[in-house]
Amino acid sequence: MLVGNFSSLEHVGKVVTSELDFAAEVLPVCTKILAVTGTNGKSTVATFAGQMLNHLDIKTFVGGNLGIPLSEVALQCLESTPESPVFEVAVVEVSSYQLEIAHKYFSPSVAVILNLTPDHLERHMTMENYALTKCRILSHMSNSKMGILPLGNQHLNDAVRSSANDFNLAWIGAFPGVRINLEAKVASFRIPAVQGFSELQLSALKTIGTHNYHNAAVAALSVIGLDIGIDAEAISSTIGKLKVPPHRMEIVHTDNHGVIWVDDSKATNIEATCTGLMGLKGQKSVILLGGVAKIRQGSSGFERLLEHLICHRGIVTFGYSGMMIQKTLSTNGLSIPCIRATNLEDAVKQARSMTTSGDAIVLSPGCASFDEFKNFEHRGRVFRELALSSE
Ligand code: ADP
Repeated sequence: MLVGNFSSLEHVGKVVTSELDFAAEVLPVCTKILAVTGTNGKSTVATFAGQMLNHLDIKTFVGGNLGIPLSEVALQCLESTPESPVFEVAVVEVSSYQLEIAHKYFSPSVAVILNLTPDHLERHMTMENYALTKCRILSHMSNSKMGILPLGNQHLNDAVRSSANDFNLAWIGAFPGVRINLEAKVASFRIPAVQGFSELQLSALKTIGTHNYHNAAVAALSVIGLDIGIDAEAISSTIGKLKVPPHRMEIVHTDNHGVIWVDDSKATNIEATCTGLMGLKGQKSVILLGGVAKIRQGSSGFERLLEHLICHRGIVTFGYSGMMIQKTLSTNGLSIPCIRATNLEDAVKQARSMTTSGDAIVLSPGCASFDEFKNFEHRGRVFRELALSSE
């Protein structure tokens, strides 16, 4: 990934190209790009869209900010012919950092901005800048292409309005676009410039968390928007086969005592933890919170989790910010047990002693992992090992 201030290089006559633009220039036109950005849920939506396409026998690459970079696969695609493309679709997760350098060739057939909540503000400084950076994903899309935005996000609305692009706009939450009925677990679609509606039943989805119904519905809209002959009816056969990417509300073990172990190590900020907790409706759990909290404008924001925590069995805080999180929750009126552990291993031990059969132990830490681990994947792997050896 290219990051940094490149204007100084441009001043001395060097051309600065983003990795995405380099890839898009090389990628044959027979490979359509489906790009996904947003604050939370990018990897899940990209993974779901890729799984839907692959299950329907469309040769699909999934990567970008998630896994293999697009530029690496673009070089492989040089062997493509229109009759026999190496990949028919490239599903690309795109981070805001990748969009910092302006591009001119990267022009997805479908681009999704899933959501936008405060994050990475140490880099973007304001939400306005953050929204403008995200909207660069749309900047070279012409009118047969589809941009998908969440309904009612003022920062994104302003950013899209200020850019002079001309593409089909679809909404998450309104028509044209997708509406999601969580009670009935049904997504309804109306595609821009296409007559009629279609529906997709999502009840076959085998994942934890209502946000994943949302993610599956958006993935389906983006696949339909590619205009490659796939409709909601075709997608319905794939819903029961969708798997979340690792460390995103992933069930990693059910032990002999009937305790379910859920790894949501990817929840490195409060919004992601909030989403994870909202998805646990009816599932009594012990929640593990800790690591290095992200402080914004003097606040860690953990008090915002309270309303989602009170229905659970208990909380274990751990790591560098463990004491601060415990204090924040208790001074804001937490009414369920909250124990402080030294590290993740200790937290798992404490959690184990609080659970009864049918409960879940959920690692959804709301913090960065760097006090104890190399990254969130490392933290998730250690949690899984602790779960497997907990009998
Ligand atoms: P990203 O790639 O944007 O970091 P992921 O798909 O890896 O997103 O999910 C990260 C975390 O974000 C998950 O652990 C989950 O708690 C939360 N999340 C997933 N989907 C959504 C969504 N649609 N809206 C808000 N939060 C979400």
